[in-house]
Amino acid sequence: MSDVTALTAKQAADAVATGDLDATELFEAYRAKAAADALNAYTWVAETAPDGLSDNKGLPLGGVPLAVKDLFCTEGVPSQSGSKILEGYLPPYTATVVERLAAAGAPLLAKTNQDEFAMGSSNENSAYGPALNPWDTTRIPGGSSGGSAAAVAAGSAPWALGTDTGGSIRQPAAMTGIVGLKPTYGSVSRYGMIAFASSLDQAGPLTRDVTDAALLYSKMTGRDPRDSTSLEHPEQIALPTAQRLDGLTFGVPSDLQTEGVDPGVVARFEETQRLIEELGGRIATVELPHAKYGVSAYYVLAPAEASSNLARFDGVRYGLRAEAETLLEMYTKTRHDGFGPEVKRRIMLGTYALSSGYYDAYYGKAQRVRTMIAQDYNNAFAGVDFVITPTAPNVAWKLGEKSDDPLAMYLEDLFTIPISLAGLPAISIPNGLSDNLPTGFQIAGPAFSENKVLDAAFALEQAIGFDASNGRTA
Ligand code: GLN
Repeated sequence: MSDVTALTAKQAADAVATGDLDATELFEAYRAKAAADALNAYTWVAETAPDGLSDNKGLPLGGVPLAVKDLFCTEGVPSQSGSKILEGYLPPYTATVVERLAAAGAPLLAKTNQDEFAMGSSNENSAYGPALNPWDTTRIPGGSSGGSAAAVAAGSAPWALGTDTGGSIRQPAAMTGIVGLKPTYGSVSRYGMIAFASSLDQAGPLTRDVTDAALLYSKMTGRDPRDSTSLEHPEQIALPTAQRLDGLTFGVPSDLQTEGVDPGVVARFEETQRLIEELGGRIATVELPHAKYGVSAYYVLAPAEASSNLARFDGVRYGLRAEAETLLEMYTKTRHDGFGPEVKRRIMLGTYALSSGYYDAYYGKAQRVRTMIAQDYNNAFAGVDFVITPTAPNVAWKLGEKSDDPLAMYLEDLFTIPISLAGLPAISIPNGLSDNLPTGFQIAGPAFSENKVLDAAFALEQAIGFDASNGRTA
């Protein structure tokens, strides 16, 4: 076979199953590409293919190798969550989801670059330098799963795992012209994921197409006794087949913000709505009166949880330990030296919001807003099958362009955060270009409606016919 890395993961898995492709040869082809990566997409690449990879032809994921965001613990393999404080940390165990995928036939190819502790929208907060966007290497690939997105878009990995707390799978997928699925909260075990905000963090696939997203996700789900918030998905995840959207209603939020949104993004969003109608679907308006408070609530809740989760990094148990005279000084210096500026900002925001005098005013109120947002979606889904928006207000921006303006960066998650707060599944698919850079289309559905979301995304994907080749040139 000529260039085996040109195949989608599903095509490669099928070729392995029929004996037309050897899984070790496939692994080696990707290994060589990942090792030669010039986008800083990887923090670690496997040195050899796993033993016996070629002998296991019957596995559902076909031996197709997987790139994994740095924050998933992988036994004996650096797992640093993009942070200097975890430099050189080699976990003694592997995250449940990585283990499940390896058992289903997706062995670990590489670890990918990310924003430090998944805090960011551009991958510029990584202690290991930014990953670059293969469509234009002077631009960010989105974040925080920027390395995973860059790797899949460039074709140096067939598929990848990311995590999404407020948009970190969907937004980088949109920025790099690939597919990203943020599953229903709880449907994938978080055990072994280095935590950012535990009530929001969720693992999901970044893939070249919707079929690959469905295939990978189908082996990720399930209850894990080691994550008390995980549960069995009520449905078996199927590969999508829909060609039409007859009988389905797609809701556009009535107060969808278009001010400050790239005109190309708005134009592509409107074109995709027309395609929905051509495929037999209906466009309706939905009211999500509290969604506009999502970003504000998120930037209280996520930092609050982060400040608690990150308290464990004190120089005693993991990674970096600063030299000091006293224990307290050692804690302080380790955290001072080990955390980057965005992480420190979030810890300060979070501890402030949780402090006794302010708990009710900030944390308590943000929790109430979160509940109201979840109720908004419940009400909306009584009348529509999906809620649609652009994935992100802008296309990939230039490196450094927003670095001095954290608030501008936070607003990039305007369309993704409310869905995260409600715990719902949502997919981003590429729906065109603006200034030669990819735009993303987001489809959200009720909890555990992944099969329906994937099917609708698949029908649209065929109709859009997005050309990803410009991302494959880097
Ligand atoms: N960009 C958002 C943040 O910085 C979301 C990150 C994420 O989903 N991990 O918090």
